Amino acid sequence: MRLRFRYRLDPTPAQRQEFARAFGCARVVYNDGLRLREDAYKADLPYVPDATLLQQVTTAAKLREDRAWLGEVSAVVLQQSVADLNLAYRQYFRALAKVRAARAESRKVTLEHRKPRFKSRRSGQAVRFTSNSRFRLLPGGRLSLPKIGHVKMRWSRPLPAEPSSVTVTLDCAGRYHASFVVDVRETPLPVIKTAVGVDLGLSTFAALSDGRKEDNPRWLRQRQKALRRSQRNMSRKQKGSKNREKARRRVARLHVKAADARRDFHHQLSTRLIRENQTVCVETLNVAGLGRSNLAKSIHDAGWGQFTAMLAYKAKLYGRTVVKVDRWFPSSQLCSACGHHDGPKPLKVRIWTCPGCGVTHDRDVNAAHNILAEGLSVAACGGGVRPGETPAVADEAGTALGATA
Ligand SMILES: [Zn+2]
Repeated sequence: MRLRFRYRLDPTPAQRQEFARAFGCARVVYNDGLRLREDAYKADLPYVPDATLLQQVTTAAKLREDRAWLGEVSAVVLQQSVADLNLAYRQYFRALAKVRAARAESRKVTLEHRKPRFKSRRSGQAVRFTSNSRFRLLPGGRLSLPKIGHVKMRWSRPLPAEPSSVTVTLDCAGRYHASFVVDVRETPLPVIKTAVGVDLGLSTFAALSDGRKEDNPRWLRQRQKALRRSQRNMSRKQKGSKNREKARRRVARLHVKAADARRDFHHQLSTRLIRENQTVCVETLNVAGLGRSNLAKSIHDAGWGQFTAMLAYKAKLYGRTVVKVDRWFPSSQLCSACGHHDGPKPLKVRIWTCPGCGVTHDRDVNAAHNILAEGLSVAACGGGVRPGETPAVADEAGTALGATA
């Protein structure tokens, strides 16, 4: 299976300039391609095919005076950027078809992919090199990239195999990363009998059906507190001022630190759950739907999507099963002891006593019990995660680019 492995890069000032040029060119061809398709759509013309689009925004564009500088970066960088745009369109069309099909059956479903959008300097600082563009790992440990040079890389761990592509990103805190896509052989662990239900929540990160609760660790909460403080501080500074920019940088640095800490925590917990259990049942959450409510901030912080993606790929890697329980399943409304349906309860109700059997439940642990029971019955009917559903999942961090690098 394909996984991503991410490392910090330390480019020289000259290499930074070359990266900036490459990021800029990749963004321009992406946006040019998007504009071409948008214009065609508005003029009622047919969808511009992939090959035509690539030719228009790269080869043909380079002949124009206002795009001649596209020739200064590796052609593969431009091709890959156009490939990302094509992928974004395909995902969008597929998602649209899904919504239409669901509507015809009057089922509820949310759009999984939005219409492709123009990239800004903030959103589009990424370029991808494939192996045919002659990116190489040098014996001394440096990463050799066409038209950029030999970039110093921090080897936090070895790569398990030859990578097929590398994506270089620049984040808002000014850090460069190289993210390699590597084919990793699956290594199933010995089969065990245990299964666990996981309820992902806001008050505790995860409640387990064995009664354990896994909260966001203190160091992560502290970072989040500091982040909120800095954000307040930034909003008090005059817009466009030097101090505002300084404050923005500080917030950005805290953001990436909090994101790193969160990712580490998700890695530890997902690895442990997969090692200790043959089957992990988890509720699929409608993250996109919740994202528009006032819970959005907390949802974003909790990073449930990242966590469940880790569970899924680690299960595949180690021969375990992850069962995703339908998001409409009323896990917090059923009594796990007698099955009594108690109806919805406000979020502030943490403990409740079942009127059917008199058992007192912790809200989240009860939900985890229900998720386990539901998940095991789904698995018995041949459910569970279908293979091939988790292509090239971000091992450390997802990049803005498509997962199928
Ligand atoms: Zn009951």
